[in-house]
Amino acid sequence: MKQIRNNLFILKECKIGELTSSIYLLNTESEDGLILIDTGFNFEFEREMKQIGINPRNIKHCLITHGHYDHVDGCKALFKINTKIRFYAHQEDSETTELIVNNDKNLNFTVTDRFKEKISNLKLGKYSISCIHIPGHSPGGMAYFSKIENKDVLFAGDICGGAVKNGGDYEAFKKSLQELLELKADILCDGHMNIIQPSEEVSKYIEGCLEINEYLHIGIDIDPNDSTNWYNLALVSYQLKIYDNAYKACLYTLHLDENNLKAKQLRKRILKHTPSKIIEDIMSEFGEYSRLEK
Ligand SMILES: [Zn+2]
Repeated sequence: MKQIRNNLFILKECKIGELTSSIYLLNTESEDGLILIDTGFNFEFEREMKQIGINPRNIKHCLITHGHYDHVDGCKALFKINTKIRFYAHQEDSETTELIVNNDKNLNFTVTDRFKEKISNLKLGKYSISCIHIPGHSPGGMAYFSKIENKDVLFAGDICGGAVKNGGDYEAFKKSLQELLELKADILCDGHMNIIQPSEEVSKYIEGCLEINEYLHIGIDIDPNDSTNWYNLALVSYQLKIYDNAYKACLYTLHLDENNLKAKQLRKRILKHTPSKIIEDIMSEFGEYSRLEK
């Protein structure tokens, strides 16, 4: 666990290629107790929080950014600790969230507070939190925005994930990210890339996410056989430090254009940042792909 501001912590830092999300913790120092933002995948709250001297039973609210399993699976463990925790999600992602959580025997978990408006306001302790509907990555994506010790802090879930195939919406994603840019947040607590600050870096990052979405879109809808698209995607991913994506895109580039010198150089640079286990996994996945293509 790391402290970001007084009362704001990152409880679980996400590493590249790890199958979970980052988890954030805000201490309201009031009757509202602790607030969690997302719950990660397979996170043992009881054990991990006690190790650092925090009582998980003081968690009273859980704000969910969206209903993908790597962000909501941990609701199972939380609900077992205390069934009175209030879980907040957008109406559009509530059902998938409940399906994922109730997959674990008869838990009878429900999303207690479902957002239906574009913006709803939540007052927890001394914090006023704007809860903003940002569809695009998923239909019920939510961002949470609050002033925390004089800094504007934004929790935005998976904006680095783009408009994914299942439930994503390319046009909605662009609009949502433009809205987030206008907030001019000082600190971005990202769903997978952890903490991004100061304000200029946050803007750069959100613009990068828009760009990567654009390339994904072009790559998928216009011409997946154009190696330039894949190289551009590799480059953007590398700049965003999403090294596994960057590596895959490099391999696709070389698959289509084996003499691409720029892609070869970029591949070497990515290798320096990526654990060998991830490279092995990508290679075996790519092996399948190249066999299918030939
Ligand atoms: Zn997601």
